[in-house]
Amino acid sequence: MLTRRTLLGTGALGVASLALPRMTFAAEKADVVIIGAGLSGLHSAELLRELGMTVILLEANDRIGGRVQTVQTVDGPIDVGASQIGRSYARVLDACQRYDLKLISEDRDLLSFGGYIKGAWVDPKTWDTNPLNRTVGDERKINPILMGQAVTAKFNPLKEVDEWLDPKFARYDISLRQLMKRNGYSDAAIELASFSAPGIGIDETSMLRMWQEETRGGVDRRNGPPPPVQQSRDHPFGEANDHNLVDGLASTNNIVGGCQMLPLAMGAKLGEAVRLNRKVGRIEMTGKGATVICTDGSVVSARFVISAIPFSVLRKVEIIASKDNPLQRKAIDTMPYANTARMYVTVEKPFWKEDGLPPSFSTDGPIGMFWAIDNHTGEGRHRAMVVMVGLVAQAISRMEHGEAEAYIQAELVRMRPAAKGLIRLATYKDWLRDPNQLGCGFSLAPGQVNAFGRTLANPWQNLHFAGEHTRRLDFGMESAMESGERTAMEIAALV
Ligand SMILES: Cc1cc2nc3c(=O)[nH]c(=O)nc-3n(C[C@H](O)[C@H](O)[C@H](O)COP(=O)(O)OP(=O)(O)OC[C@H]3O[C@@H](n4cnc5c(N)ncnc54)[C@H](O)[C@@H]3O)c2cc1C
Repeated sequence: MLTRRTLLGTGALGVASLALPRMTFAAEKADVVIIGAGLSGLHSAELLRELGMTVILLEANDRIGGRVQTVQTVDGPIDVGASQIGRSYARVLDACQRYDLKLISEDRDLLSFGGYIKGAWVDPKTWDTNPLNRTVGDERKINPILMGQAVTAKFNPLKEVDEWLDPKFARYDISLRQLMKRNGYSDAAIELASFSAPGIGIDETSMLRMWQEETRGGVDRRNGPPPPVQQSRDHPFGEANDHNLVDGLASTNNIVGGCQMLPLAMGAKLGEAVRLNRKVGRIEMTGKGATVICTDGSVVSARFVISAIPFSVLRKVEIIASKDNPLQRKAIDTMPYANTARMYVTVEKPFWKEDGLPPSFSTDGPIGMFWAIDNHTGEGRHRAMVVMVGLVAQAISRMEHGEAEAYIQAELVRMRPAAKGLIRLATYKDWLRDPNQLGCGFSLAPGQVNAFGRTLANPWQNLHFAGEHTRRLDFGMESAMESGERTAMEIAALV
């Protein structure tokens, strides 16, 4: 049996030992122990089982799926995490087919957007001549709510999905603010970009990380017919979809019954190999094998371990190794995580008909964006979402539990008095406050792609790394599946 003493005797460098309970369970054994039952861990498990290996999958939560979560509300199922499946999601689509899940074209077209900036409503069409517009030259024509995205798209030098990791683009491992300064943008343009910057914020995310996402998104768009005119970037996000079917798929698809149907089906096939309510607190590695210890004292020994949990939570797991890996520790400890908090609401009556303002809007204020979803009649009830990302979401997360929803509704009514009494909360989810996630998605700070972005997916002794944050080529759910496949192949090559 491996003990902490023998590990330290061989020169291991562990972080301060966690106060884990004494072992109360007999150690179980498997070829591979996988930590985390999100899509990456589940896909790895299904592939390794197909290769004839025994697998145990440990999940901290009382449900599987991780960032794929469907909440049942009085208004029906709502995906509070991933929901959109693109045409180029080969592995996700294959899994949906294998598990006989039905896809439908996403019915979440957004009604037109306006901007509420510096306390005033601005019309993008007349922004050029608006006295509030202090940008200069060609900048003046850029829709103020899209400044960050517009600059990001304009300077993207990447043509292929793997180029973000190519050292020839190392000089772009900088922030959006640095990119704008390098290219002579005015301070006013930089200020506008700071509230619509993709990633965490204008200073916090590397351009290479932003361009990885954007370049991969381009593949999805190229996989279908040219976008309709309405899609010409006057919406910050989730514009009207192209509902034409190509090979039975729309540009954006949802799973009937909710996205969580996919991890549930994968988990059901894996059966009792998936253990819920097993939060991993420590991983001990010798080079020949590994032992994983959960906070309830249960223990699993295996030849290989796959960490399929975000680095935001892996940094809370004690990792003891007979050979340290300072660069990987740095990646685990310092990779920043973005946040998304969303309030899902029902609008009883289209209040935008009362106040004559655009139904959806983006603001430099504390609630980020309001997305009004087209119900295709223009009358009666509509679904809507308040979407907070980046620094706006971080600020909301600092509020006391339960305060955010009331604050957001009050802020909405302050900006749109006509909305008073017409907003009904369906559900609320803040991914930073979820203790098993601590964020909605990985980021890489300026300088981190060059520091460890190219190596962070490499195995460390018997520990392999899956999860969307270890993506090389893909994005979203597809990147989680990509990483599950990669780790399964890494292990298959070693046995
Ligand atoms: C709001 C939101 C919207 C999104 N929308 C889309 C979309 O429309 N389309 C798309 O393709 N992608 C979308 N994504 C991204 C997508 O959800 C993720 O890329 C993907 O689900 C990540 O899967 P994963 O396996 O890497 O990690 P996760 O899903 O995070 O799985 C990790 C698992 O590890 C568990 N865990 C954590 N700590 C421990 C521990 N110590 N011990 C054991 N288990 C632990 C967690 O409970 C979790 O189940 C969205 C994400 C969010 C947050």
